[in-house]
Amino acid sequence: MSEKKIKVGILGATGSVGQKFIELLADHPWFEISELAASDRSAGKKYHDAVNWVMQTPLQKEMAEKIVLNCEPNLKSKIVFSALDASVAGAIEENFANAGYVVISNARNHRFDDDVPLIVPEVNPDHLKLVKYQNFGGGAIVTNPNCSTIGLALALKPLHDNFGIESLNVVTMQAISGGGYPGVPSMDILDNVIPFIGGEEDKMEREPNKILGSFNGKDKIDYAELKISAQCNRVSVIDGHTECVQVNLKKKTAKEEIIKAWNNFVAEPQKFNLPFAPEKPAIYLEGEKYPQPRMHRNLGKGMSVAIGRLREDTLFDFKFVILSHNTVRGAAGGTILIAELMKANGYLDKYL
Ligand code: NAP
Repeated sequence: MSEKKIKVGILGATGSVGQKFIELLADHPWFEISELAASDRSAGKKYHDAVNWVMQTPLQKEMAEKIVLNCEPNLKSKIVFSALDASVAGAIEENFANAGYVVISNARNHRFDDDVPLIVPEVNPDHLKLVKYQNFGGGAIVTNPNCSTIGLALALKPLHDNFGIESLNVVTMQAISGGGYPGVPSMDILDNVIPFIGGEEDKMEREPNKILGSFNGKDKIDYAELKISAQCNRVSVIDGHTECVQVNLKKKTAKEEIIKAWNNFVAEPQKFNLPFAPEKPAIYLEGEKYPQPRMHRNLGKGMSVAIGRLREDTLFDFKFVILSHNTVRGAAGGTILIAELMKANGYLDKYL
């Protein structure tokens, strides 16, 4: 790895995921933020005047003083992380890709384009090969899945590989930060549970089949065929999505074998020792009251999925609970890990 850091831009830098990028990239060994961009409301202002900084670490002076730019493809950084609102992300990301930029996005807009990979680095790193078949005039778009899907995909991958998954039911308890800032009004969420998150159940029922699908060696992904039912709830937790999962496996197995599969799970990011790769992407916790958002969302610096309460089920083969940090592994951290994986595999070389 050369000494010189790779310059990156953040699109949607003022939002909650944009802020998380700034926080997480502060001391990154490979990448440095050179440009921040957002809407016309923010463009032209110093970042500290445009943003309502809600991270727990202080805003770095160098970032605070940067002038926010428009989301137009005239940035110097050829690699951009997108944390744009989905209402505008589709066209802006395409403009950047068509102008020769690599866009790594958190937004939902391009996740199901045939030639756009939907990546969880430990689960389907080979899907990055799709990038070669993209037709964006030299640039590329790579996407990060929905925040609840990412934790689920990490927990499912060892089961899918070792035993096969027939079907699953998942019920989520999702953190407030998943809805961006300021998110759900406090009068709606305090002392309450909201049993609806727009579009979320559809994403959770569709995305795992693309992620767990196989690259056809040519130009598309052959989807897996898991039958998935999802119910999504917003709960009064700041960060960390909890999910209760029930699965039917293709091959009958014992509880101990499943725990072993989770605990032994390592993949390309760990083998390459990527800066944001947790030592263990999935961590099984033995305590009968675990996992819990306040205690376990920062495991592996927010990049590991915590799993607990594996037991036999009366309707399905097994049930268990998972927890993952929605703005770290589920958004900015997951996207940074994708960029590291792309760098390690040479996908960024021609843009540097
Ligand atoms: P957010 O807090 O609402 O931030 C949205 C960002 O988009 C802001 O920087 C905003 O800039 C910018 N923006 C809005 N309209 C724009 C326009 N017309 N042109 C250019 N920029 C515009 O949202 P968020 O929670 O950070 O989420 C960002 C994206 O990541 C969304 O697509 C979301 O679905 C996805 N995501 C979020 C999470 C999570 O946990 N929050 C997890 C995974 C994925 P201004 O401040 O200038 O308006």
